[in-house]
Amino acid sequence: MDTAQKSLSGRLREDRGFADMLNACGNGLILVDAQGRIELVNQVVLNLFEYDEANLVGQPIEVLVPDNVRPDHHRLREGYASAPESRPMGLGRDLLARAQSGRLFPVEIGLNVLRDNGEVKVLATVFDISRRKQAEDALRQAVLDYQRSNAELKQFAYAASHDLQEPLRSVSGFTELLAMEYAGQLSTEADEYLQFIQQAAHRMSDLINGLLAYSRIETHGQEARVLNCDQVVRGVLGNLHALIEESDAQVHLDTLPEVRADEVQLIQLFQNLIGNALKYRHPERVPELHIRARRDGAHWQFSVQDNGLGIDPRYHETIFVIFQRLHPQNDIPGTGIGLSICRKIVDRHGGRIWLESVPGEGSTFFFTLPDPPSHARTRVT
Ligand code: ADP
Repeated sequence: MDTAQKSLSGRLREDRGFADMLNACGNGLILVDAQGRIELVNQVVLNLFEYDEANLVGQPIEVLVPDNVRPDHHRLREGYASAPESRPMGLGRDLLARAQSGRLFPVEIGLNVLRDNGEVKVLATVFDISRRKQAEDALRQAVLDYQRSNAELKQFAYAASHDLQEPLRSVSGFTELLAMEYAGQLSTEADEYLQFIQQAAHRMSDLINGLLAYSRIETHGQEARVLNCDQVVRGVLGNLHALIEESDAQVHLDTLPEVRADEVQLIQLFQNLIGNALKYRHPERVPELHIRARRDGAHWQFSVQDNGLGIDPRYHETIFVIFQRLHPQNDIPGTGIGLSICRKIVDRHGGRIWLESVPGEGSTFFFTLPDPPSHARTRVT
């Protein structure tokens, strides 16, 4: 057979220099004949699709496409063959390729028309874009997270500081004036109503301040620094001194480690959890608290255990949502913000928070802080 009649792949195979050049190419190259059979591939394709040359050459090109695309691929290929032109494949769509093991990976494919002894063939260039896709996905996610938390924060801070606080001040101020100026001139009923308004205004003010404290976790965070948790918790126990005395609580404190954290927020975190352990105590038991820490891989895991009221497992997620409370305000006062602040603080430090509890027996709140911590996440953004 003379050179002109030999197929392109035949000629290329004979020419060692040409074969070396194809293999040196960074992209995958696949030569497909008019019937859709693979005629030639370079080494990149074999590596990418996890094949030996002998298993791939001669196979229909469909072996390299995902199972769900396979039935249609035939039609697409025929459509292309009726009007062949060199162009990228699947413009505007994400293309996936299938390795022999079934692993799918994202690719960019260029289609190039070759006329070989009168037969129209396609030389496809394949470029594995897994890394680029991963980077794009991570970036897209980071931007979304950033936009969401930013919008949330702005809305909270704005609503709390302007829209809500101002009119509330007027309500409180004028109710107080009314109560003072008209003392003894109104009916007992009217005096009582004024008292209710004042109480409600106080409660609303507490909620607004809580909301502000919540939004400030992100906006007013400090740089993380090395902190001795023993000292932090002893400080917190000092702040809660009155509550501990009044309830006769016994607090058992393990030796706690050093962590890198925002000091104000670490205090807030322990104070909310220990405060709750004292607040939600069982009416028939002296409160007993255990504060512990243990290593958990690259994290420190802290726990605050109580023998209090306990929490039904149905509410183990909802109690971390802002304003969610399980106890009526008249029984045990609160705003329902403490645990949402705890979650935000732990999130911001790259840890997580959860609890285990038996209703009627007690609860243990756990949280982790990275060690070594992720410095970037504790930076104010
Ligand atoms: P608050 O204490 O102001 O209501 P939190 O966000 O700190 O707000 O707590 C949310 C709810 O979770 C509380 O209202 C309470 O019902 C429940 N809770 C929190 N800590 C405990 C605990 N240690 N034991 C029992 N219930 C708790």
